[in-house]
This record gives sequence, structure tokens and C-alpha cells, in this order.
Amino acid sequence: RGAGAYICGEESALLESLEGKKGYPRLKPPFPAVVGLWGKPTIINNVETIANVPWIVANGGDAFAALGVGKSGGTRLFGVSGHVNRPGVYEKPVDYNLKKLIMEDCGGIIGGRKVEYDAVKAAGSMSGSGGVIVFDDSTCMVRALARISKFYAEESCGQCTPCREGTSWMEGIVEKIEHGHASAADVAKLEQVSGNIMGQTICALGDAAAMPVQSFVKKFRDEFLRHVEERRCPYGDHGWGLDQTSRPAVVGGVRY
Ligand code: SF4
Repeated sequence: RGAGAYICGEESALLESLEGKKGYPRLKPPFPAVVGLWGKPTIINNVETIANVPWIVANGGDAFAALGVGKSGGTRLFGVSGHVNRPGVYEKPVDYNLKKLIMEDCGGIIGGRKVEYDAVKAAGSMSGSGGVIVFDDSTCMVRALARISKFYAEESCGQCTPCREGTSWMEGIVEKIEHGHASAADVAKLEQVSGNIMGQTICALGDAAAMPVQSFVKKFRDEFLRHVEERRCPYGDHGWGLDQTSRPAVVGGVRY
């Protein structure tokens, strides 16, 4: 019954799905290592971790650790999509330079356009699961957020209220802003709704949906307010988001 649902990648939802039930994440504790599949202790690793094991056995743990830095030893799979010439999955040391990854390994930005770089951590972000979506300077960030919010609203399993209701609210408000039908109060409401989701849900999908909303509004507030003031998307047809077909972009392996 998982039917390819995104949430079935969450370890306890995966267990529910394997048991033939709907992919609802479980309340934790107890963690799967104590009460897992069919109620038995279960250790779950992702494929990236398991795939490292043969190399580590052949070459030794120290050699693997030396590929990274400090406590973040080894390599990391970076899934790069968006406005780059060679999107794909790249295995690089954990401390690999993001600019090098985008400009050299991924062949730079489509059409030679610009992007900005900040140290990920210094910019108040995190590398998370190594997913990198590159937006060039012609991207309407409101439209990009609308696409991201739609994804989370669709993939919320609906089990807890802040996530089920909040993701739909966020999607609706961002769409309203993008189409020039919103007021400044809606931008504030967007921040409020996202704040009401953070830390209030059973699994991390709620936070994952709220975090981009908070950071997009924080970093690109002027863009959101321009949509309100001009009562339209200031980018018009040229503000191609990742859901547009006018220029190619690849997200999650799909060419848009
Ligand atoms: Fe489901 Fe969202 Fe709650 Fe996770 S946070 S259990 S996806 S409703």
C-alpha cells in the first residue's frame, strides 16, 4: 500500500508499509532498534550506508574517514538538480566545496547564468541528505517555493493536524502570493503557519515542509513583497520556476 509514497522512506512508515499497513510514521520512542518490524528489534540503514561497507572492509576505516574531515569522515552522495548542465548523483568527500561541485563537476549553470554561494552552514542552512537544487538568478523564488510546498502538501500522510492542515495552508498562501492575489498580511500568515508546524509533528516531514517556507521568506522577503505590491509575478513568463517548460531543468531525475 506504500504505492511509492515519499513518506514510506521514513523508517517507521517503511516498517508499517512492510507489514501491509498504510505508511503512517510511528510515534517514537520506542525506536525501531527496540520495537521494529513485527514488533521485533530492527536495524534500518539506508542504501548509501550499506554501499560504503565493501569499500571500508577492503580499504580500512581509517582510509574511509580520511576522505572527509573531522567527525564527518568519508564520502557523501550529493544529488544535484535544477539549473546545472550536468545534473546527477555525485559521490564526494563530506567537506567538498559546493561551488566546485556545481561549477566543475556539474558543468556550471545552464546558459552561463549566475548563482550566489555562501558557506552552507554560515548561511544558516545544512547539507541534510545531500540534495542540492540550483536556482539561477532568473528564478522566481515564490514560484519555486510554490512547487516545493505543493510537493509536501501532497506527500503529507495526513496523520497529524499541524502537518496535514499546515502544508495545505502553506501551499495555498504561496500560490496566492505568486498569482498576485495576496496582501502583506498573507506573507506574515505564511510565517505564522510554518512556525506552528515546526516541532509539533510525529515525523520530520512537517519540519521539512516548514523550513523552506521560513528560509525562502527570510532570504527573499523583498521578492514576496514585490508580488504583493505589483499584484502579479514580477518575473512574468521569464521567471521560470522548476515547473516551467520554457527552459530545461531536471528535478528528481525528471526533465521539466
Ligand atoms: Fe504524516 Fe506529516 Fe505527521 Fe509525518 S508530520 S506523520 S507526514 S502528517
